[in-house]
Amino acid sequence: MNKIDLHTHSNYSDGTFSPKELVEYAKVKKLKAIAITDHDTIKGLEEGEAVAKEVGIEFINGVELSIGINSKEYHMLGLMFDRNTKDLENMLKTLQEHRIERNKEMVMLFKKNNINIEYQELQDLSQGSIITRAHFSQLLIKKGYAKSTKHCFERYLSPNSKTYIKRNTFNAEHVIETIHKAQGISILAHPYRYKLNTSEIEELVVKLKNIGLDGIEAIYSSHNPNEESFLRNLSYKYNLKISGGSDFHGLNKPDIDLGVGFGKLNVPIDILEKLKL
Ligand code: AMP
Ligand code: MN
Ligand code: MN
Ligand code: MN
Repeated sequence: MNKIDLHTHSNYSDGTFSPKELVEYAKVKKLKAIAITDHDTIKGLEEGEAVAKEVGIEFINGVELSIGINSKEYHMLGLMFDRNTKDLENMLKTLQEHRIERNKEMVMLFKKNNINIEYQELQDLSQGSIITRAHFSQLLIKKGYAKSTKHCFERYLSPNSKTYIKRNTFNAEHVIETIHKAQGISILAHPYRYKLNTSEIEELVVKLKNIGLDGIEAIYSSHNPNEESFLRNLSYKYNLKISGGSDFHGLNKPDIDLGVGFGKLNVPIDILEKLKL
C-alpha cells in the first residue's frame, strides 16, 4: 500500500484545501508522496513542501498549464521542476495577467446579459488565489443564478455559452520547453477529457511527443480499466513515461477524494520512481 497522488489543487487555484491542509490530508490518507499542481501558479509549493517535510511525505513540485493547439485547449502538467527558474516565473506571470483580463471581460459579458456580478466579488471569494471558472460558478450559485455546478457550467461557462471567453494560452512547444528549462518533466493531463476518440488521442500524443512531451497521465480518477490500459500501451509504444493522480479539488469536486479519486484510483509509488529516471 505505497500510494501517491501527482495531480491535486490547493486554494492557490481552484481547490478548497490550503497546501498545508492538503499535505496533512495526504498523510491521513497514508500517501507516500504528493504533487500540488495548481493552475498557472506555483505559490502553494513552498508551504506544501515545508509541511510535507514535517509529516514525512515526499513532496513533488507541480503545476497545471493550458496549451493551445488549433484553437482547442489541452492541459499539461509540469512535475519535478526547479521552482526558482526565471523562464517559468515569467510564463506564469503572463498567464496570470491574461487570466485577469479575461475574467474582467467575462464579468462585463455577464453584466451585458443582466447577470449582476462584480470582479470584486470574485476576488473576495478567491482571496488572492488564481480566479478560474470554478470561482465564477461558486459566485453565480451563491447569487442564485444557478442551482448546481453542472447547471452553471452548461448554461454560463462552457465554450458555447454567451458569457464564456477562451483564455489565451501558450503553444505546446513553448510550454514544454519552459518546463524543460526548469529541469521538470511535461505530462499530458487526463487525455480522455478532450472529447477525442482513441485515434485522435494517439495523434495528439504523437504530435506532442515530437516536440518533447515526456509522459502521459495514464492513471486518472475517471479512467476505466480499458482507458488506462490503452494509455499505458500508448506510453509504451511511444516511449513515454506514465503519471497518475486524482485531480483532487477539495469541496469543489466533492466526489473526487485524494489518492483514491472516485474510489478505485491507485497510483503506486513505483510510478514516481520511474518518472525520476
Ligand atoms: P478556467 O481555467 O478559468 O477556464 O477554468 C477551468 C476550471 O473550471 C477547471 O479547472 C475546473 O476546475 C472547472 N471546470 C471546467 N469545466 C467544468 C465542468 N464542466 N464542471 C465543473 N467544473 C468545471
Ligand atoms: Mn481545476
Ligand atoms: Mn485539467
Ligand atoms: Mn487539474
